[in-house]
Amino acid sequence: MRVLLVEDDATLADGILRFLEQEGYRAHWAASGEEADRRLGEEAFDLLVLDIGLPGRDGFEVLRRLRSQPGRTLPVLILTARDAVEDRVRGLDLGADDYMVKPFALPELGARLRALGRRRQQEQNLAIRHGPLLLDTAAHRAWLRGEPLELTVREWAVLGVLLSRTGQVVSKEQIIRAITPLEGELSANAVEVYVSRLRTKLEPAGIRIRTVRGFGYVLEEHRP
Ligand code: CA
Repeated sequence: MRVLLVEDDATLADGILRFLEQEGYRAHWAASGEEADRRLGEEAFDLLVLDIGLPGRDGFEVLRRLRSQPGRTLPVLILTARDAVEDRVRGLDLGADDYMVKPFALPELGARLRALGRRRQQEQNLAIRHGPLLLDTAAHRAWLRGEPLELTVREWAVLGVLLSRTGQVVSKEQIIRAITPLEGELSANAVEVYVSRLRTKLEPAGIRIRTVRGFGYVLEEHRP
């Protein structure tokens, strides 16, 4: 895992970099916000450790720029001064995932980075996201608003077909054709039953499966 440490205090940075290398990370150092921006634009990192108090372009600005680009979900841990509660709040509001208050113990930094790394790994394995719904197609598990969602094999299969064509009308015949070879014979009535069960499970979270009479179903685009 590649970590970028943004810290203007060279002594502190040196200690953190050594620690990260011992922990098995490939650790890189940027001494200013400008350098951090440049490297984030040019290189791929797995974690960002970002000091807020930097001369010139500060950590807030680096974070704001990073999060304003679509798809930049790089986990960020910010480093703030002791007692700077408003800094932590602002950093979290800008999209930081965690924070540490200086001075901190290096093993605690290590533990927090491991947690962020695990979360990153889990998210990368998740193949399908639809608003508050997450499907891990490899593990056959689903989450709704972060809570595990129980789906039967056939509910899972019907949902998979609808999700693959979000916003489009999918006929019962298309659902049957997609599922029968995998899960065995499926009737039109059975499709109705599975769709009805999926509605019960998904509608409380704002996910709607609309019936288009005579045509089929539409899993509507999610609008938060
Ligand atoms: Ca600093």
